[in-house]
Amino acid sequence: MATMNGDGTKIGQEAIQALASSLRGDLLTPDSPGYDEARTIWNAMIDRRPAMIVRCAGVADVMRAVAFARRHQALVAVRGAGHNIAGNAVCDKGLMIDLSAMKSVRVNPETRRAYVEPGATLANFDHEAQAFGLATPLGINSTTGVSGLTLGGGFGWLTRKYGLTVDNLVSAEVVTADAKRVRASAKENPDLFWAIRGGGGNFGIVTLFEFKLHPVGPEVLAGLIVFPFDQAKAVLTKYRQFVKKIPEELNVWVVLRQAPPLPFLPKEVHGKEVVVMPLFYDGKIEKGRRAIEPLRSFARPHGEHIGPQPFAAWEKAFDPLLTPGARNYWKSHNFSELSDGALDVMIEYASKLPSPQCEIFVGLIGGKANRVAPKATAYAARDTKFVLNVHGRWDEPGDDKRCIAWAREFFNKSAPHATGTAYVNFMTEEEGGRVAAAYGPNYKRLVQLKKKYDPKNLFRMNQNIKPSA
Ligand SMILES: Cc1cc2nc3c(=O)[nH]c(=O)nc-3n(C[C@H](O)[C@H](O)[C@H](O)COP(=O)(O)OP(=O)(O)OC[C@H]3O[C@@H](n4cnc5c(N)ncnc54)[C@H](O)[C@@H]3O)c2cc1C
Repeated sequence: MATMNGDGTKIGQEAIQALASSLRGDLLTPDSPGYDEARTIWNAMIDRRPAMIVRCAGVADVMRAVAFARRHQALVAVRGAGHNIAGNAVCDKGLMIDLSAMKSVRVNPETRRAYVEPGATLANFDHEAQAFGLATPLGINSTTGVSGLTLGGGFGWLTRKYGLTVDNLVSAEVVTADAKRVRASAKENPDLFWAIRGGGGNFGIVTLFEFKLHPVGPEVLAGLIVFPFDQAKAVLTKYRQFVKKIPEELNVWVVLRQAPPLPFLPKEVHGKEVVVMPLFYDGKIEKGRRAIEPLRSFARPHGEHIGPQPFAAWEKAFDPLLTPGARNYWKSHNFSELSDGALDVMIEYASKLPSPQCEIFVGLIGGKANRVAPKATAYAARDTKFVLNVHGRWDEPGDDKRCIAWAREFFNKSAPHATGTAYVNFMTEEEGGRVAAAYGPNYKRLVQLKKKYDPKNLFRMNQNIKPSA
């Protein structure tokens, strides 16, 4: 017998055996080898024990797992690459549907399309697409999953030029709550296609994504420039002005943190607060060099490391700072502009970072994504120019309280300067009350579609859109 839900529902051994023998992949229970590895996700704050884990080998396994969960009214968690901070990829008791072994990425360079399975990481995607000098906008840490990232919206270095990840989604194959596989595109089930472009995992399990690809690199101009923290206000004020005029090929983000021991920084700066500007130019290297030149006049930098490099390597540049296994608590706001008040709060909280790994991150996404109508996709926050993310990150459980308090306090103090919408992929597990605000004008339609595609809320381990809301 396995206990499936919080209410104590039990499922007999026979039913479990029948499921196991119907799969091409594996069914793991707490005593199976590999169980602990399969339930471990990127954020070490999450330590949950599903009653069963179906490690899907393909679409048939996903359909069988969904049918089983539906029949037995099991709590369901869906895992892509397991990167989400909220930790919804894994549940206590219940059934975890693990897609992480489904990693195929197939590129058609003639039609510039990529066909991607839901366990693929950004690194897997770039590996295949960059072999043809192609890419689509994804995130900035290569171990992140394509699927969770896409379903919440998705943005990264290419977003200013090519829009959000969902703006580049052409179609998807989805296993819905009735365990049927359907296609979603502009022509097939267009309402479902609309909902999965930002609505997260609420509407079914995506088993295949089809993306548009664009020529990128393979070599791009990218790197970091690092400024003294005592110049932060001047540097950030100049940044705010600068990014209003730059071409969409150029992207410059901001990170306020303690300097890692990077070889291009003087030793005395290591471990001190700094203003880091990671930058990326997608175009001719020489044009990029000219476009970034004004950055050097913001203040006298501590150092810089900028040059041509493979796009796929730049996509991995932050991996060493974002390894799995640390404790993470993130919170986020969207901004249409960086007001003086916003900058002041950022600087105030960056001057009291509670651990060497904590950071305040500002991603610049203004550009193409702003030219899509808010109601065109479920992702509604089309006025967002900057996404602010406070990365609370540390190693010891004893630091939980202190680091979480810092992140929450900063989040609350910066709220008056933000737009009020939110990026669902950066929300923590206790932010269920923020889901309606996150979707703004699209929430009502999302609720209607949830009623249509998942009336019993089988898929509820996510930033949940309730069918009854
Ligand atoms: C270090 C780090 C860096 C990040 N950088 C960026 C960034 O640059 N840009 C950005 O946009 N985001 C970024 N994110 C956020 C990222 O988009 C989310 O964490 C995303 O959920 C990761 O996807 P995953 O498949 O790895 O997650 P998982 O934890 O596996 O899944 C998250 C949730 O998505 C749903 N889900 C996943 N796959 C499916 C599927 N196939 N079908 C249905 N539902 C599914 C489930 O509800 C699941 O709980 C970052 C996160 C981290 C931790």
